[in-house]
Amino acid sequence: MANPVPKPSYKRFKPTAKQRGNISPSVSQKVHERAGGRCERCGWAPGTFDPTGKRMGLQRAHLVRRWKLERTTEHDIALLCGPSVNSGTCHHWIDYTAEGREWAESFRMKLMGQYVQG
Ligand SMILES: [Zn+2]
Repeated sequence: MANPVPKPSYKRFKPTAKQRGNISPSVSQKVHERAGGRCERCGWAPGTFDPTGKRMGLQRAHLVRRWKLERTTEHDIALLCGPSVNSGTCHHWIDYTAEGREWAESFRMKLMGQYVQG
């Protein structure tokens, strides 16, 4: 009974990129509340006229590459018009263009700054 309790040897859990990219329901809800039903970049709202005809709806888009994250929080995500496979949508723009990636990075910094200020 006097034996010292051994330190627990938890196996170090290393999440996969997919798991790190998972968006929890609470994160998803915060992003949707922040966006208010509009694309956070161009302001397009589903159901309104889209001159490009390419926007099908709003999608949660990662602002950083998933492998860079420990886990996904609300400032890692933007609600953007998509689908990402359609060029001309904001989701495609941040995923496939250098300009879009820069925007995503600075938008994320802006979001993080807002959270720091409370
Ligand atoms: Zn958009």
